Amino acid sequence: MKEQIYTIPVNDAFSEDCECPVCVLEQNLENDSISFMLSPALMESDNRMATNQKGFCRRHFGMLYSKKENVLGVSLVIETHIQHQMGIYKKLLKKSKKGLDADTKMNAVRNLAGHIGKSPTATSKFISDATGFLASLDDNCEVCERIDRIMGRYTDTILWMYFKDTDFREKIKSGKGFCLPHYKLLLESAKEQLSPKQTALFVNDLNELMMNNINRILEEIQWFSKKFDYRNKDASWKNSRDAVPRAINKFVSYGDFK
Ligand SMILES: [Zn+2]
Ligand SMILES: [Zn+2]
Repeated sequence: MKEQIYTIPVNDAFSEDCECPVCVLEQNLENDSISFMLSPALMESDNRMATNQKGFCRRHFGMLYSKKENVLGVSLVIETHIQHQMGIYKKLLKKSKKGLDADTKMNAVRNLAGHIGKSPTATSKFISDATGFLASLDDNCEVCERIDRIMGRYTDTILWMYFKDTDFREKIKSGKGFCLPHYKLLLESAKEQLSPKQTALFVNDLNELMMNNINRILEEIQWFSKKFDYRNKDASWKNSRDAVPRAINKFVSYGDFK
């Protein structure tokens, strides 16, 4: 079974005491993916062909640069990416120029028709094409695509192990559940990967686990707030000292708020 090669990282992540073991898997995968992209071989011109086209999203361009491990490589990637994408954009500008110039000289009737949306102008068509193109730049990212692909294998493995490995199932059930974005991911994956009956079994367990742990984190965050009351200043923090970053993690997945 091909999933078996993923059981070690999955088991390791589920052995950690955390708000979401899938966050642990994804964060490790994200860091590995950044290192992989920065490796010297990937900066060679042939390998940069795909990167030229897709580039990286804002988050991952930031991470690639911040590592300062291969600044020349990042410089070559951004240079060729700009050349490639702006080459496409220049063609759109050239194609649209005549219509844009003509629109600057439109008469009052045409102006009114365009204004009330009756008749789209060449300029509005250009804006729609240009904004579509500019939005696509942040949508395409080599790192995001790699993460999505491998996360799919991890979730297949989690579901497979859930029904094959009793110890693993007990580990999930006695854990702290998942963050909401990964709860969503597991619901979607279960529907895709499992039989209808297995889906029902898994979803029932998952819902109970999630609701118990949402209640638990809510109590912890409530106690954290109550500790600011002078009457509680000598009371124990219980488990609440780091409740804020854990509650944020539970709600929005991992991030730079630890
Ligand atoms: Zn998560
Ligand atoms: Zn990305």
